Amino acid sequence: MLVAVGLTTTDLKTLDHTEVVLTSSGALEVFQLPESRDLVTLLGVGTSDKPFEKIAAGQRFTVKGIKEAKTGSFVLEAFDGGKKLPRTNGCFLVRGSHSINLLSIRRPGASGTTGAKYNGSIAVFVRNGHVRVALILDLDKYLNGVLHSEIPASYHIEAVKAQAVAARTYGLNPRISHGKDGVNVCDSYLCCQYFGGLTTVSSPTHERAIHETLGEVLTYREKPILALFSSCAGGHTENYNNCFSDPATGQFPPPELPYLSGVPETKNKVDLKLFDDKNLRHFYNSAPYTVDAASNHFKWKVHLTADDLESHMHATVQAMLKDERAPFVVAPPSGKFGHIESFRIPKRGVSGCAIEIEVKTSTGTWRVMKELVIRDLFKTPGKKLARLKSARIFLDQSHDKLGHLSALSISGLGWGHGVGLQQTGAQGWAKEGSKYQTILAHYFTGAKIEKV
Ligand SMILES: [Zn+2]
Repeated sequence: MLVAVGLTTTDLKTLDHTEVVLTSSGALEVFQLPESRDLVTLLGVGTSDKPFEKIAAGQRFTVKGIKEAKTGSFVLEAFDGGKKLPRTNGCFLVRGSHSINLLSIRRPGASGTTGAKYNGSIAVFVRNGHVRVALILDLDKYLNGVLHSEIPASYHIEAVKAQAVAARTYGLNPRISHGKDGVNVCDSYLCCQYFGGLTTVSSPTHERAIHETLGEVLTYREKPILALFSSCAGGHTENYNNCFSDPATGQFPPPELPYLSGVPETKNKVDLKLFDDKNLRHFYNSAPYTVDAASNHFKWKVHLTADDLESHMHATVQAMLKDERAPFVVAPPSGKFGHIESFRIPKRGVSGCAIEIEVKTSTGTWRVMKELVIRDLFKTPGKKLARLKSARIFLDQSHDKLGHLSALSISGLGWGHGVGLQQTGAQGWAKEGSKYQTILAHYFTGAKIEKV
């Protein structure tokens, strides 16, 4: 099965390129194709089809987007070395027997940052007035690049196999649909899952995990599920609708996804009732046995002074109000962020994850919602804290003699959103003898494993 992976720019922030430059140590064939919404179907180009252009080994092929003066439409202009080729409003498909170096984007590799390098066909096309690039390759080859970045090869093979099936499923059905971009998934961890192409070196463990689960994906009602995963859930995973908003409508909470329900990481599956602040504290302090308890991220603490909070939180809230996080920040009637007086967590999910936090200030109470936005709220550059490791937190606040907040201690569990598969938990279950099918059934309630 083929998959079209949208390649982002060097900063991994956008699929919009201004120029694409590529080369190969072997000869390349370029086909000019009509625009198509589904790039994978473009690979219907047969071996007998005549290429539009042949690029010699080592020669550069450059594509730029330009606005045509006559029609005002955005078209592609290509160059074979210095030779200008006819323009198109369709798509250039480039393929060869060697890997393709994309010189216009850079990716971190084993020997530092290098030009990106891929095995597969490269499609260059236009979307919304920008040049887009997609790599079209076999789903399992894509997965090899993903696994390297997403799970250490030192993990137990059954944990890596569980991750392989989840990441393969995610490649077919990412949370933010890329249908409008003409691709299945993108290569950035800021949006989907990281895929570094050939700059990442595959390991025998990753290859074995892919081979032993070949073509397997998780489905629910005959469709690939949203196979979310994170690093460490800290003893209990969380329900999807308590952490994420609906990617299409922005609605929070979104409709529930029955296969993404929080589960305790204990053998007896006792309901730990962690939505209660008291029980969450007890769980943190008593450290009961859970399969992920060996992780360095299982339990953590952050200590912030009133000065730390006063110097950063105001600016963070202002920044949030200007970007995509704005719908999850509710201002008091004054609209002002005054001196911070106290914090309160009025709503928690099944794992204890904060769904909402209140910040009482001298000018009114602010409400901040959603797991990642709550983690961002505590950004403290002075303490090199970009965001909290998780939102599974409880707070201890100290006040001075005048009743002003003097310090805040944040105790937390886990690293990441904790929805779906958690890698340190999968590792724990694997070490206890669980096979990957059992691990996946544990994290994705009611989902089936099927071959694509
Ligand atoms: Zn993406």
